[in-house]
Amino acid sequence: MKTQEYIQLEENYGAHNYHPLDVVITRGEGVWVYDVEGNRYLDCLSAYSALNQGHVHPRILQALIDQAQKVTLTSRAFRNDQLPLLYQELAALTGYEMALPMNSGAEAVETALKLARKWAYRVKGVPRHQAEIITFENNFHGRTISIISFSSEPLYKDDFGPFTPGFVSLPYGNLNAVKQAITPNTAAICVEPIQGEAGVIVPPEGFLRGVRHLADERNVLLIADEIQTGLGRTGKLFACDHEGVRPDMMVIGKALSGGFYPVSAVLADKKIMGLFQPGEHGSTFGGNPLGAAVARAALRVLRDEDLIANSARMGEYFLEQLAEIPSPHVKEVRGKGLLIGVELKPEAGDARRFCEALKDRGILAKETHQHVIRFAPPLIIDQETIDWALPKIREVLLTL
Ligand SMILES: *Cc1c(COP(=O)(O)O)cnc(C)c1O
Repeated sequence: MKTQEYIQLEENYGAHNYHPLDVVITRGEGVWVYDVEGNRYLDCLSAYSALNQGHVHPRILQALIDQAQKVTLTSRAFRNDQLPLLYQELAALTGYEMALPMNSGAEAVETALKLARKWAYRVKGVPRHQAEIITFENNFHGRTISIISFSSEPLYKDDFGPFTPGFVSLPYGNLNAVKQAITPNTAAICVEPIQGEAGVIVPPEGFLRGVRHLADERNVLLIADEIQTGLGRTGKLFACDHEGVRPDMMVIGKALSGGFYPVSAVLADKKIMGLFQPGEHGSTFGGNPLGAAVARAALRVLRDEDLIANSARMGEYFLEQLAEIPSPHVKEVRGKGLLIGVELKPEAGDARRFCEALKDRGILAKETHQHVIRFAPPLIIDQETIDWALPKIREVLLTL
């Protein structure tokens, strides 16, 4: 079948809740993907950072095959011999005493919000059902009804109310607004250390440290959503590490499985995670042995291949080189590690047309919102590959 035939089928039979670039991928290997016509592309999206370890990493693949031949799902009604090891390895890697496994990122965010509410009632003494959670404008935390309830993006929420109460939304990066908004009923502050979906928005230096300080001072939990920024993407294990901030709860997903399988988790110390009692929360597939084995392998690859240091090194080089392109269209190039946003001037037109032009030259990048092109290749990328891509990006940014 040809590209157009696949696209026709997808358009006819599938919900149109995405607007993909018209490339039909049939195979991936490392930083590269191949379409059904045999064209090769550099993947500069990495499935929104789920593919930090690259496509079809052989060691993660082997772990998936080995585990799939043994047992894939037990449900948490019984125990399995992979989940305890994942717990132990997550604790060793991250320093958090406990973890709670889920599948999608949105589920893990919901888990963290539920835990924060329980903490508010059982530990802080907030009156029942009065807990407030502070969030930030332009956030992206997923697509459930509760999560879109505190989205500021009309596209994500306009037709989907009524919304879940209990959330306060503040301008991102504004410490004073946080200070003013905390009340005795505030359970938590939920923040992305860099707003990826909003267009790679890096908050002012000191913002996260300031939020941490306020949370300590006012007896409020700090929840960091590191689903996109975590596990090496920004050149540190967590983006919060750039400011030396340790949140009370860390939400991870995406690259936790190296792109093989949906695995997410909430990390916290015992004094918080210990609040969950049997029956209060769960998921049929959460913590399954296949996902746990895959996540263990994905974390090993991150460590053994030194991907976090490579992300810092290659990210610095890539960003520097992109910033030097004297394009009349570019307003700003920003980011940390290999999470890079190129913001176009409003008069440059939609970022989409630049992504189409990049695709025609063998580079897959995706616009985020209207005016930002995100460059976030797998963390295994080397300088030679970046040097292959740069002239093509230059050509698009200079001549379009
Ligand atoms: C992708 C993402 C989510 C949602 O993850 P899903 O697996 O798509 O549910 C939540 N928060 C952030 C910061 C993300 O980037």
